[in-house]
Amino acid sequence: MSEVALLDSVITFLAKPLGSFIDGRPALDEQAGVSEIINPANEQVIARVQDATAVQVDAAVAAASRAFKGSWAQTSPYLRGVLLNKLADAIEQHGEELAQLEALNSGKAINVARGLEVAQSVVFLRYFAGWTTKINGESITPSLPSMAGEQYTAFTRREPVGVVAGIVPWNFPLLIAVWKLGSALATGCTIVLKPSEFSPLSLLRLVELATEVGIPDGAINVVTGAGKVGQWLTEHGEVRKVSFTGSVPTGIAVGAAAMKSKLTRVTLELGGKNPAALLADVNIDDVVPGLVMTAFTHQGQICASPERIYVHRSRIDELEQKLGAALAGLKIGSPLDESVQFGPLANKAHYQKIANYFERMGDGQVVVTGGRTVGDKGYFVEPTLLRASSPDDLFLTEETFGPIVCLLAFDSDEELIELLNDTPYGLGASLWTNDLSKALRMIPRIESGTVWVNMHTFLDPAVPFGGSKSSGIGREFGSAFIEAFTELKSVMIRY
Ligand code: ADP
Repeated sequence: MSEVALLDSVITFLAKPLGSFIDGRPALDEQAGVSEIINPANEQVIARVQDATAVQVDAAVAAASRAFKGSWAQTSPYLRGVLLNKLADAIEQHGEELAQLEALNSGKAINVARGLEVAQSVVFLRYFAGWTTKINGESITPSLPSMAGEQYTAFTRREPVGVVAGIVPWNFPLLIAVWKLGSALATGCTIVLKPSEFSPLSLLRLVELATEVGIPDGAINVVTGAGKVGQWLTEHGEVRKVSFTGSVPTGIAVGAAAMKSKLTRVTLELGGKNPAALLADVNIDDVVPGLVMTAFTHQGQICASPERIYVHRSRIDELEQKLGAALAGLKIGSPLDESVQFGPLANKAHYQKIANYFERMGDGQVVVTGGRTVGDKGYFVEPTLLRASSPDDLFLTEETFGPIVCLLAFDSDEELIELLNDTPYGLGASLWTNDLSKALRMIPRIESGTVWVNMHTFLDPAVPFGGSKSSGIGREFGSAFIEAFTELKSVMIRY
């Protein structure tokens, strides 16, 4: 199959001078450093993006602050919802353009970029739009005694926390930015987003669309650049909340810096070493497609993807054989080829990390399939399945954030619970079984922000998502985001 033809709008966008987007317009600065944006499929430079300066970060926060107190505060909750829905419509109308930018920039297979990243951005944004008119406090009856006929009443208000810094990783640059800007704008906050230095392009196009649909200047700003820019934002005195998605070590640094700055609120959605468990009754033919999809979509570069799979000893040989065969059959190639299921890793540093893991394989584990880099141009690797013999195997303990899955046999349910919980992390776990009674008894014993049954890594805007233990602080989606993006104000009245 040949590659899809790039749209003229994509070619024009890539050729433009790009950089931060502040107060409704591009903010370019001749003096700024420039980062080359690389297509991970062929290592060619596809765009040049200016890195934000400290002055620009200040300007972005100031613009967000003005919009927070001015234009966005004056936009009624109903109109906020209308505007977020208009942005969702614009994403839908420009879906192919955004999907192509994503495929070019992050190596996401075009079908995944269209059907997951872009389509889900629309779904999530419409969900947040629905919340704008439903953010309420409660009415309270105080217990104070009336001494001379006076009475008391009280109520709470959910007030927007203020300017939010949204720090976005490289794996889902559009969707994760939408989670953050949707939560912020729905609650009445404004936002300064920082995309990853590796994959800023789709967000830079999104913020242009936000201005075109009439979202007021300054409500959504983007500052580009590496970790330093994120650090300036986190430590900025006018930022009231940091919503961060990324790796555990960076998340811990961001959380500490935010606390130290001004007790700035944080939501941290970090990584993990997510387990899936296949109980003895599973039908292996039924679960293999689900495991391939959840563990290997976007080359396994998804924070909640399972990397360790515990399988009842009676079923592990069959799973190993059938999952190995399914992975060996995946088509690896250009993300712009619609028949390709498996593109390159997203950037060189990550490719080198995974190649390094490949070199450490085979000492303690059996390599069932994969374990090699592919070709000499682009960051391609094979989908990889290992089988370990010990629970302390490094492939059952270290997060690779890549397409490497490791199997281990278990014998009893008690042993399985211990294996599932034997990790500092707790983002997502899954049980695969038709014995729902057993699953329901196990769920309370699993230390994890989410437990899926017969599925894994399905994120729904109505279902809260976030990590327990070292996988994070706070929850996104559902009604849980409201708590994270608002302050609760209590009002007491004597009359
Ligand atoms: P990944 O390896 O998934 O990119 P990181 O956690 O390193 O994970 O990066 C996630 C995001 O955090 C990126 O946008 C990155 O530029 C940003 N970042 C990195 N270091 C810092 C820091 N010290 N403070 C704030 N943001 C940072």
